[in-house]
Amino acid sequence: MSETILGKPLTDWVAEFPLIAPMRELQELTWFNPAVKATADALPEVGLTVADIDDAAARLKRFAPYLVDVFPETGRSAGILESPLVGVPAAQQRLAQHFGADLPGKLWAKLDSQLPISGSIKARGGIYEVLQHAESLALEAGLITLDDDYRKLNTDQAREFFGQYKVAVGSTGNLGLSIGIMSAQLGFQASVHMSSDARQWKKDRLRSHGVTVVEYESDYSVAVAQGREEAKRDPMAYFVDDENSKSLFVGYAVAGRRLAGQFQSLDVTVDERHPLFVYLPCGVGGGPGGVAFGLKSVFGDNVHCIFSEPTHSPCMMLGVYTGQHDAVSVQDFGIDNVTAADGLAVGRASGFVGTAMQHLLDGYLSVDDDELYRIIAILKQTEDLEIEPSAAAGFPGPWRVLADAEYRDRFGFDEATMARATHLAWATGGGMVPPAEMASYIAKGTELLG
Ligand SMILES: *Cc1c(COP(=O)(O)O)cnc(C)c1O
Repeated sequence: MSETILGKPLTDWVAEFPLIAPMRELQELTWFNPAVKATADALPEVGLTVADIDDAAARLKRFAPYLVDVFPETGRSAGILESPLVGVPAAQQRLAQHFGADLPGKLWAKLDSQLPISGSIKARGGIYEVLQHAESLALEAGLITLDDDYRKLNTDQAREFFGQYKVAVGSTGNLGLSIGIMSAQLGFQASVHMSSDARQWKKDRLRSHGVTVVEYESDYSVAVAQGREEAKRDPMAYFVDDENSKSLFVGYAVAGRRLAGQFQSLDVTVDERHPLFVYLPCGVGGGPGGVAFGLKSVFGDNVHCIFSEPTHSPCMMLGVYTGQHDAVSVQDFGIDNVTAADGLAVGRASGFVGTAMQHLLDGYLSVDDDELYRIIAILKQTEDLEIEPSAAAGFPGPWRVLADAEYRDRFGFDEATMARATHLAWATGGGMVPPAEMASYIAKGTELLG
């Protein structure tokens, strides 16, 4: 930590932004942004439109037959990568005990932990971006046309073609898994630049798919920067830029319309009288930002998106709260960015997402690592769900809303409205965690619950 941050002494920062003091003490925080705007005013600030999401959804559909061919487990959904939406009433009850307050309304979970191919939310954006890149190369080379059956890409000829090209990414783990597995399957030379806190099993899994794993002692931002530099020097290389990618972002955004369909099929109403709160674990911001963009484009002012981060890595909260976005990192303020939630271990938020989405996101919360483990244990005990630490971060969300009268008053969430509300915690990952590691998460959480 330096004496000054952006040329300003720490004491001045704390005077101007009082939440920085408890943030530095790693306290759990909730901050509802007073500057949020109506969706109609804020959506145009994103710089992407519904047409971009349509385009992404259409591309995913073109690739669906190919995905069924190469990943047979996607056959059940005809090659569309989507996850279950489930009610979690037993967990709701148990969490109400844990947080000491009954939750009016209903709690749901979106099980991206069960997304095919890579078992996390990264199967949305990460796989999408690789497919987009592959499609553009294949179209340009005349290997396919837009109207073709994309199973043509599951041939030695296509794999040889893609084999001339490299795909690289910097990742804390799950993005690397998604990009690496998808790239290697298409035939690309894939390399994943990983920080030291990435789990060993993720590195092993990638290597078993023929992916080159480059490890860094330092954190995720350095891994990203190195990967980016290497790819820049090589005209045959393509770098998936987690901090700035619009392609990742629209891939994630497709989730919004699909979720609307799922709620409809379960006869859940979302309108002005029935608000939907969605709690999204946030790392660099692309995943939750893209999903939130998709949700706002479907549900407008009736959906309320709230990001959740570990107390050790509250980069998006810090960036939006101070208005400095990617000009500041949590480390600048003496916060260590060391957390069991490896998918969220990011010290500097995406400047693109922070700026584009700031007026569309109602708030930000932070969660202690021990709480993440307790939530993992509660979900296992009550609902037999298995998720990873990052994926647990959204679950305290509804109780933070309950605790903040200013926020509820500002939006007119009175008692009757809260009783009709739908709360959705996005359970972003866990499907690929080896059984022994999952068992140790659950054991740790059970022990912490006492
Ligand atoms: C990456 C990840 C997130 C957050 O996505 P970002 O794009 O980094 O904000 C959340 N949960 C899990 C399990 C992840 O792997």
